[in-house]
Amino acid sequence: MKKLLIFLLLSVSGFAQKLEIQKLTEDFYVFTTHKDYGGQPYPANGMYIVTPKGAILIDTPWDTTQCQPLLDSIWRKHKKKVILCLATHFHDDRTGGFDIFRKAGIATYSSEQTYALCEKFGEPKANKIVRPDQMFEFGTHRFRVIYPGEGHTPDNIVVWFPADKILYGGCFVKSEESPDLGNLADANVQAWPNSIQNVMSRCPDAKFVIPGHLGWQGNALEHTLKLLQEHNSR
Ligand SMILES: [Zn+2]
Repeated sequence: MKKLLIFLLLSVSGFAQKLEIQKLTEDFYVFTTHKDYGGQPYPANGMYIVTPKGAILIDTPWDTTQCQPLLDSIWRKHKKKVILCLATHFHDDRTGGFDIFRKAGIATYSSEQTYALCEKFGEPKANKIVRPDQMFEFGTHRFRVIYPGEGHTPDNIVVWFPADKILYGGCFVKSEESPDLGNLADANVQAWPNSIQNVMSRCPDAKFVIPGHLGWQGNALEHTLKLLQEHNSR
């Protein structure tokens, strides 16, 4: 709540930071950029992980003017190049920076379904495809790509770091600061609760659940399920 208030104050005063980076835990960082949404600057989160092989990005900045500043900041802080960027669905708050990153020599990844939707809707596309359940390993960090079923979009995936107990949910999960389900233009609200339950059983005891927007305090999986139950019982 405190963070939301600070954000609102910053927005009102027009001083919303362009690129915000917050340390989550050892080697894990959440980055946030803003874009205009309904006449107000609205934040979107992505995450990066520092590994011995280089830095891994989950989702691109929504504000693509912040792609290069993000790469520069990771280099300054950690002396690491970004080697991979994986987008968790086709919307531009996840894929917007793909072309910039590909040109910077970064391997860009999405699922096949995301690739097809990017093509259909004219969003930047990845140059590599992830399979559902694909496991990536970079030195000490391992993560699994999970397709939970339809939810926020038909193609949304989540990323699970089993050793660190960190779940990157993206827009598939709603922050406890979100009063509603947000943009439902491509959502399947009937399938979504079951998809959330799939993630709950496959990713037990998550220490952090990172939503696509706003803060990650509390339990975003439980909160999303509650919002869906309210929405679907109306
Ligand atoms: Zn989103």
